[in-house]
Amino acid sequence: MPGEELARDIYATGFYRQKTKSIRGAMRVLLEEFDGEVPRRLDDLLRLPGVARKTANVVAAELGHAQGIVVDTHVRRLSQRLGLTRNEDPVKIERDLQRIVPRADWARFPHLLIWHGRRICDARRPACESCVLVDLCQSARV
Ligand code: SF4
Repeated sequence: MPGEELARDIYATGFYRQKTKSIRGAMRVLLEEFDGEVPRRLDDLLRLPGVARKTANVVAAELGHAQGIVVDTHVRRLSQRLGLTRNEDPVKIERDLQRIVPRADWARFPHLLIWHGRRICDARRPACESCVLVDLCQSARV
């Protein structure tokens, strides 16, 4: 697909110039180095332009080969509030979570925190009075 056409298609997502460059670069690397297949290994995914650790972890987990734990804004906030980490850096938070979350749950654990973060443990107004984790949480405000 020509770059201009791709840029038009993804314009509404924001940062479309950089994203166009990354998507085209990732497609080229997939074709040239991976026979057009999305690789399963985290180290290989990280070689794709525009793919950093969070995205690589998401793709690997969704392909059924989780090799880490996705740390996004919800996972970071919930992990800190629940006392699962004292770190700010996503890579260090991921290491802390890897030590306590069974490997079999690495793919679904972030989904649980993300949904809990969206529905109950809001960044500004956590609904502690409705939270099932209230007895376990060091940050509960009740
Ligand atoms: S008790 Fe409050 S701060 Fe703790 S996880 Fe629940 S909503 Fe978040």
